[in-house]
Amino acid sequence: MKENIYEVIIVGGGPAGLTAGLYAARAGLSSILIDKGIFGGQITYAEHVENFTGFPDGISGMELGEKMHQQALKHGLNTIFGEVTGLEIRGALKIVKTTEGDYAGKSVILAGGAVRRKLGVEGETRLTGRGISYCAVCDGSFFRDQKLAVIGGGDTAITEALHLTHFAAKVTIIHRRDQLRATYILQQKVMADPKIDFLWDTTVTGIEGGESVERIKLLNVKTGLTSVKDVSGVFIAVGTSPDTAYLRGIVPLDESAYIITNEKMETPVPGILAAGDIRHNSARQAITAAGDGATAAIYAQKYLTESTV
Ligand code: NAP
Repeated sequence: MKENIYEVIIVGGGPAGLTAGLYAARAGLSSILIDKGIFGGQITYAEHVENFTGFPDGISGMELGEKMHQQALKHGLNTIFGEVTGLEIRGALKIVKTTEGDYAGKSVILAGGAVRRKLGVEGETRLTGRGISYCAVCDGSFFRDQKLAVIGGGDTAITEALHLTHFAAKVTIIHRRDQLRATYILQQKVMADPKIDFLWDTTVTGIEGGESVERIKLLNVKTGLTSVKDVSGVFIAVGTSPDTAYLRGIVPLDESAYIITNEKMETPVPGILAAGDIRHNSARQAITAAGDGATAAIYAQKYLTESTV
């Protein structure tokens, strides 16, 4: 166990965690933020963010994440890399177990976000990193002049498809319904893009290839007809799920394993709060995650002031 007892431990370094950290540090609370990946979280995968206020010309997700990290550091937040593996309650103290050792805190803000959901079809595990990707911004440039498929109809799928047109010869969006879920402005953009076409009412039943992806197996859910399409890359964007297995039995989770909080970001366990995409009913936007983070830090401070820990 590390010697320090922190007033706030923040798990996760996306917009929610970094904003919570900024607020906690500015409130003079001893605070540490633990993240296992890149500071900035999922927003770093976005090529261009147009809907975070304050940036009228937009900003790259990577730069936005970096700026959030720098701002929190400037105000005194400690940040470390490590994977959180457990949370234990010992009296009023919360012990955050990580691959880098155990950290004790008087309050904890859980802001670990959500990770990309797997499609769950044959070939997916074996060919991941061999033509299957979950991040167009990270991997798109490996697919110059190739034929690609994007699976999903939400904002992520559409944003990724648009990004891939910078590199690919053709991008086919494969969606299980005949209407996109994505925001209106993204729908307008994608419909107007000559490099993008659609397969509606279609699911992917398998992904095949030797050393790398060569083709996908398709099922039209309306006609029942099956087919095969030759592609050399598949980008899967079928939503996200939270990494909360280690919290089962400690804080209440909904049926999809998201953390249930009140509007103050408090869980029913005193001193444990949650913010951002990890939360039940989150709007899942970078800006709302940042708002959640600020709210969580404010109510963590209130808890510390009002309780006897
Ligand atoms: P999402 O909105 O949940 O969309 C997931 C898509 O995948 C849906 O179209 C869904 O189909 C489809 N899908 C789910 N499971 C599937 C399966 N097993 N097989 C085939 N298709 C499947 O997830 P998201 O696009 O990752 O977005 C998550 C959140 O982040 C949203 O709130 C979104 O607004 C936000 N976001 C915003 C931006 C932005 O503002 N630019 C960018 C990225 C993400 P159905 O439509 O039939 O359910």
